[in-house]
Formats: sequence, C-alpha cells, structure tokens
Amino acid sequence: MLPRELFELLVEYANCNPKEVVETVSDLLKTIREDSDKYIMELDNLLEEFAEDNDICSVCGNELEFVKDSIAEEYQGSPIGQRICSNGCY
Ligand SMILES: [Zn+2]
Repeated sequence: MLPRELFELLVEYANCNPKEVVETVSDLLKTIREDSDKYIMELDNLLEEFAEDNDICSVCGNELEFVKDSIAEEYQGSPIGQRICSNGCY
C-alpha cells in the first residue's frame, strides 16, 4: 500500500475531520519513527492471526486448501495434513 493510499484511508477513518486527520497521521508517524521494527512486527502478527482466524493465506488472501499427508493417515481420529495456499505462497 502506497503512502497516498494509506493517507486516504486515514482521511476516511477520521470522517474527513481535518484536525483528526492531522492527529491520526502525526501519531502514526511518531509511532513508526520511534520503533519501526516493532511496528512492522506487530502489524505482521496481527495479519497472521487474522488470516489464520479466517482460514486464508496471509500473503495473497486466497483460501487455504487442506492436503492430507499420504504417509501418516490419521492421528487420534483426525486426518493429518497441512494447509497450503493454492497460489503457491507456502
Ligand atoms: Zn497465498
């Protein structure tokens, strides 16, 4: 997402209230400047959790497919396998 696209989302989020837009974007910049690595890591974690909760790929947003493990058929009554992205992300 380009800065302009994020900015437009934040303008929408602030209901086009100029003071709120300035406060929101200024606060965002301050937080990122303080520790950009931490900011990226937290956003990354939120994305992973969200994708997992919705059973979709955290890279492309496609639904994950369950692929059964051909060697180990079942474990305690549940089929063994893994969730993979049809787009080949993982
Ligand atoms: Zn994917």
